[in-house]
Amino acid sequence: MNEDIKIKNLIIVGGGSTGWIAAAYLTKALQGSVNITLIESDAIGTLGVGEGTVPSIKPEFFDFLEIPEEEWMPRCNATYKMGVKFVNWGYPSTKNDKDSFYHVFGESQELDGIPLTHYWLRKRFGGYEIPMSYACYPSPALCDAYKSPKYSDGRTAVNYSYHFDAGLVGEFLKSWATKRGVRRIVDRIVDVILDTSGNIESLTTEKCCNYKADLYLDCSGFGGILINKALKEPFISYSDSLLCDSAVTIRIPKNNKNEKLQGYTTATALSSGWVWEVPVWGRLGAGYVYSQNFKTAENAEKELRDFLGADAKNLPAKHLKMRVGRTQRAWVNNCISLGLSCGFIEPLEATGIYTIYSALHYLVKYFPDKSMNPGLRNKYNERIAYMFDDIRDFIVMHYCMTSREDTPFWKANKFDLVIPDSLQKLLEVYRSGAPVNMPYTSDSFYNQVFEAGFDRFWTNSNYLAILTGMNVLPDSALPILEHKKESLEKAEVGFELIKYSTEKLLNELPSHYEYIKGLHNKLELDANFSSNRLVLG
Ligand SMILES: Cc1cc2nc3c(=O)[nH]c(=O)nc-3n(C[C@H](O)[C@H](O)[C@H](O)COP(=O)(O)OP(=O)(O)OC[C@H]3O[C@@H](n4cnc5c(N)ncnc54)[C@H](O)[C@@H]3O)c2cc1C
Repeated sequence: MNEDIKIKNLIIVGGGSTGWIAAAYLTKALQGSVNITLIESDAIGTLGVGEGTVPSIKPEFFDFLEIPEEEWMPRCNATYKMGVKFVNWGYPSTKNDKDSFYHVFGESQELDGIPLTHYWLRKRFGGYEIPMSYACYPSPALCDAYKSPKYSDGRTAVNYSYHFDAGLVGEFLKSWATKRGVRRIVDRIVDVILDTSGNIESLTTEKCCNYKADLYLDCSGFGGILINKALKEPFISYSDSLLCDSAVTIRIPKNNKNEKLQGYTTATALSSGWVWEVPVWGRLGAGYVYSQNFKTAENAEKELRDFLGADAKNLPAKHLKMRVGRTQRAWVNNCISLGLSCGFIEPLEATGIYTIYSALHYLVKYFPDKSMNPGLRNKYNERIAYMFDDIRDFIVMHYCMTSREDTPFWKANKFDLVIPDSLQKLLEVYRSGAPVNMPYTSDSFYNQVFEAGFDRFWTNSNYLAILTGMNVLPDSALPILEHKKESLEKAEVGFELIKYSTEKLLNELPSHYEYIKGLHNKLELDANFSSNRLVLG
């Protein structure tokens, strides 16, 4: 290849989670062949939220960077997340925890090419009362018992992702990336200079300089200073389908002595939205995601404080506006937007950070040279648009299928939302009793996530967890099951095996608290060991 045409210099604008995730990922993926500079403004600061994740973050990000859990988790106050517990999504609050269900991670087993969840549905139509998540997975019982998803020796027992302190993850990655050659500049960009063909030529900063690169990554947050402001790429709002546009958050310190450390996020529906409770090590992160059309900021804060009770008294609250939707084309000329400047769907299923490393995966796949071949760019743009629309559909489904209509907000969700055609089609499949979005291969969830081209990220079990959890059942069970006597018998054995392995795991796994405390103890021991070595040496 002609050396002149190779991308040699890349500038990342923004030092929030997106900027540092991108810097770290590209340092590794491009094998040090490109000079990476990151410019961030300390005056503007970062959003500083984003504490829940989905399971692919382990294989696709941390494992890719070869950073083991023992190294990053205790430094970032991370805990495990086996899923999300949804409370009061089917019915208004009753305070007795009856209306709750889990959305846990992973595909259910398959029998004769049909997911076990569909055998469960058939039993459900026959009056079987055990909820799908408990019947088909061990994880809900482990969540209830405050267990770790891993054995004491580090082996994995069930699927998991993480909760963490987003600020600490940013700091950790900053240190990781700068040690590997990423140049960091703290300054504010005040002007974006375009050349005659509309490419970014350089960036002017407040303090002094003019910075030039071959490729620019806009990681500047909701402001989208390169992609939306300078290049004027339109933003497609999803506000017709997703009503929540604001959040108020409160952080509650915890003393790390509470042995009942939850291994899941809780999402509780309130009058005009829902509250997240995310247990990280040393505190509980909480936030009310709501719609300003139905609630003022002041009333939302009051409702959040009432919900959290005495624990939140006198603690400061932070108010945020959310730009929900996506930039029409993520990549325009020599600029690629990532993170919040590219798009954001409200955090109900904690997909924000997923969209960042997933987009980076595709960026590496379609990485350009200076000619910015439109074939690469168009493919990337299609993929990213699809990713956001797919997440939108899944989140809209949570709202439009609930039976709640007790407040103007829930009524509007039930009766007034614009349901995207793509979601309508999936719901039609669901009603028929057939599996929605079967994964690409049943034995490799992660292959499906990244290699299935345009197959959707949200698979059958994701849709079933939410819909059956809200007690929305198909019109009937899958008709073919009536012709599968042997498979039905095998399914019964499958359900018994899940019961058996759940009991076994309950006995064998350490508590979540114990496991995470162990990671902190190990880090401390290692630190003492190295400092003693320094003294002795
Ligand atoms: C309420 C809420 C809850 C969320 N919860 C989750 C969750 O549970 N899980 C999840 O995965 N995601 C979640 N997210 C999304 C997550 O917070 C974001 O994906 C993440 O914070 C990335 O943000 P960012 O880096 O794109 O933007 P920001 O954090 O806003 O960073 C922008 C950066 O750009 C810099 N910048 C801006 N303008 C300039 C300029 N002119 N010159 C120089 N630098 C500039 C800033 O200094 C900053 O460094 C949530 C988001 C919201 C709003």
